[in-house]
Amino acid sequence: MRYHVLTLFPEMVEQGLHTSVIGRAMDQGLISLECINIRDYAGNKHMKVDDYPYGGGAGMVMQAEPVYCAYQAAVEKIGYRPRVIYVTPQGHVFHQRMAEEFAKEKDMIFLCGHYEGVDERVLEEIVTDYVSIGDYVLTGGELPAMVMIDAISRLVPGVLSNEDSASTESFQDDLLEYPQYSRPAVWRGREVPEVLLSGHHANIEAWRKEQSVKRTRERRPDLLKKEK
Ligand code: SAM
Repeated sequence: MRYHVLTLFPEMVEQGLHTSVIGRAMDQGLISLECINIRDYAGNKHMKVDDYPYGGGAGMVMQAEPVYCAYQAAVEKIGYRPRVIYVTPQGHVFHQRMAEEFAKEKDMIFLCGHYEGVDERVLEEIVTDYVSIGDYVLTGGELPAMVMIDAISRLVPGVLSNEDSASTESFQDDLLEYPQYSRPAVWRGREVPEVLLSGHHANIEAWRKEQSVKRTRERRPDLLKKEK
């Protein structure tokens, strides 16, 4: 998977993603990240990329042309027109199944807005998917793009050292994951459930399934309602 991020703050995305599991996946060449600074395509000596909104109102709007030129530069490098995700509070809310779908792509472009957003005309021209990370408004699209890239990358084969760990996690089959425990067996008087120490795989499996359903019912009953 090759990610291409159109942003005004490339260092934020680069630094944020070059750590831990995702950083290691980049070092191993399983995924790659290229940040394209929209300001490099400002086309004026003040490097200005935003202007007042037509019709008045608060804030500034990112202009169409620098965004379009940054996009064209990315497409030229990639060699075809991949999916373009505009991260926006006005999009479909991101979820695990969307991450699974995106993980099948070879290249993805993420467009990060800032200020009041981006001139609608360039969005109409280049965007294939409008995706939000939740019903709240952030100052910029960099954190949402990083959230999505992290979630997608975990599903790219080889990124997680134990591939099983992605297949049994929360949201698989619309269930939250069962509780996890590690050593010691007794911590400040709290014991690990006995079944987990039994070595009886079928019983452990059954306990985990039961706990998954219980936890989902308590914390996310909306997920269970999706059950066929
Ligand atoms: N004026 C816009 C509106 O009301 O829909 C909000 C603009 S927001 C201050 C600036 C940028 O942050 C957006 O263009 C978008 O890229 C990003 N952003 C903010 N909240 C987001 C969210 N919940 N999900 C994804 N992107 C978001």
